[in-house]
Amino acid sequence: MYVDCGTLFTGTDVVADGRIAIEDGRVLESGPQDAVEATGDRLDLAAEVVTPGFVDAHLHLKGARSMDPMDWVADDTALSAARAVADAERLLDAGFTTVRDVGSNVAIGVRDAIAAEEVPGPRVFAAGLSISQTGGHGDLHMLPREWVKDGAGISELADGEDECRRVARKRARQGADVLKIMTTGGVLSEKDSPTQAQFTDSEVAAMVEEAHRVGMPVASHAQGAAGVKRALENGVDTIEHGFHLDDECLDLFLEREATFVPTLAIMHRIVTAGADHGVPEHGLQKAREAREAHLDSVERAIEAGVPIATGTDFIGPDLVPHGENALELELLVEEVGLSVADAIASATTVAGRTVPDDSVGGLEAGNYADFLVLGGDPRDDLGALRDVREVYRKGERVRQ
Ligand SMILES: [Zn+2]
Repeated sequence: MYVDCGTLFTGTDVVADGRIAIEDGRVLESGPQDAVEATGDRLDLAAEVVTPGFVDAHLHLKGARSMDPMDWVADDTALSAARAVADAERLLDAGFTTVRDVGSNVAIGVRDAIAAEEVPGPRVFAAGLSISQTGGHGDLHMLPREWVKDGAGISELADGEDECRRVARKRARQGADVLKIMTTGGVLSEKDSPTQAQFTDSEVAAMVEEAHRVGMPVASHAQGAAGVKRALENGVDTIEHGFHLDDECLDLFLEREATFVPTLAIMHRIVTAGADHGVPEHGLQKAREAREAHLDSVERAIEAGVPIATGTDFIGPDLVPHGENALELELLVEEVGLSVADAIASATTVAGRTVPDDSVGGLEAGNYADFLVLGGDPRDDLGALRDVREVYRKGERVRQ
């Protein structure tokens, strides 16, 4: 089949009067109509704006309904899973055809139900529980350690090289697609700070070795420069958040061909509306303090040529709900100055680099033919990114 489009964002380019040639659910070729051969049935979207399906490279398919991490460990697991299923459908409706979950006790099961077509949702790559050191970002500092160490909510604790290795192997055993670790403190954890590095070099190296041996890329929650470097120097593939990137960090990104997932959306929501949505006081405070440095880091990373992937860090409650994930693209344009086409590239071609499947990304030859029809051209009105009229996956219409 082939699809004639009005304006076509391919993920690397924008063409007027575009065409996508598709065979067996994959892109044969995309580009201008006079350059791409028409074979098979014609799908007429010649009056429409078409983009690749969006990818959210950092979210939590956790079914959370509050901003208090205490609730994330206390919520009933079946209830969390049921809510995460509802969230998955919202993501698909919003044009997110692939997502990378980076910490959840229910995402692996939800992934499998979606893959078996039992429930609608995007293609999911799941980390399962993320791995934190004791007293680290994934720990619940006010609870008895016994209650959380073996995994609750979104994290499990590990200390020392052997334990780190074992927990990484547990993730592989559970069928995780990516390994999520935490090499700095964070905003919503009570007693640490975003600038504190966490885990030792040997702990990080052990987890990365175990993950890479079985083909799992490694993502690290890393906000301060020391923890970003510890992650990159030990082979981590993607850096999440990156509030305080110095020049050495930027050089390391390029040298290691790592990808940066800044997660502007959650920071924006916490700073602008978190106080009305139950974000704990320590979280509000740390988010406000990091805000300016964060935006500055992202701008310098863009300037240095570091690949920037969209990721919202949304987890489900009203403040950061699944379905509004296009906010990240809007912020990349409005807050750090990406062009609309580059923001779409960030949400497709670049975000596709963060998952262990080479066929996810833009509409390059060989990739899954995942694409969207928008209600307008986002270069004229950014709001069009949220006005998703039709969603196609592997060449078949799955929504609207
Ligand atoms: Zn996160």
